[in-house]
Amino acid sequence: MCQSLISSLDPSGIMSGSILAVVAHPDDETLGAGGTIRKHVEQGITVDVLCMTGDETRNAEMKAACSILGVRNLYLSERDDFAIDSSLTNEVIGAILQTQPRIIITHSSEDYNRNHSECSKIVDQAVEWASHATIFDNAHRVERIYHMEVNSLFPKPHVHVDITSSYHIALQALAAHKSQLPKSDQYYLKLYDARTRLRGVQSACERAEAFFISLPTHAGPFYPQNSVDNLL
Ligand SMILES: [Zn+2]
Repeated sequence: MCQSLISSLDPSGIMSGSILAVVAHPDDETLGAGGTIRKHVEQGITVDVLCMTGDETRNAEMKAACSILGVRNLYLSERDDFAIDSSLTNEVIGAILQTQPRIIITHSSEDYNRNHSECSKIVDQAVEWASHATIFDNAHRVERIYHMEVNSLFPKPHVHVDITSSYHIALQALAAHKSQLPKSDQYYLKLYDARTRLRGVQSACERAEAFFISLPTHAGPFYPQNSVDNLL
C-alpha cells in the first residue's frame, strides 16, 4: 500500500510539520526522494534541503533542481567528499534548530557509497543533540528519520511513497544536474528509472520511492517532555 510520509493530521485536519532532507551530494535529493519531495510540496508541506558537499557548478545545478522540486530553504556548501565527517554535526544541528522539521529524510547507513552512510550517521547524531533542552533554548525533537535509497536497496522497507503523479517533475529536477547525467552512460537516469519502477511494482502503483524509518532515541535527563500519555 502506498502511503504519505506524514500520515497523521492535526485537529484542524490540516497536515502539520515540515521536512528537512540532509544529503551528501547535489543530485542525491532527487535520486533518493525527488518524487516524494515534490509530492509533499504539492500537498502544502514545506521541504528544506541541506547538502554536505558541492562546488560552484554543482551548487548551481542543485539550486535549479530544488527550485523545480519546490524546496524552501537550500543549505549549500563548497567542500569535497573527503570533508564529510563528524565535524559537520553542528551544521546539521543548526539546520534542524532553524527549520524545526517534524521528519528528516536522509541516506541509509547501508548505502555502499561511504559518504552516504557517513551522512546518515551524522544525521543520527545531530538529531539527538538538537533535542537536548539543556543545551539549546530552541531544542527540537525530530519525530522520525526516513532513510532513502540511492544505490543500495532495503531488503525490507517500511514505506513506499506513490510518486506516479510527481515522477515527471522529479525527472526535470534530475535533468538539472547536467554535469552528472552523462556519467557512465546515463547511469543515474537509468538507476532512478529502474528503482522507482521496481518499487512501484512492489507497492501496486506505477512509480514509488521506498524508505526505512528509524525513531530517534530519547533516553536521559535532557528532555523537558520525555513521557507520553499512551502508546497510540
Ligand atoms: Zn551521493
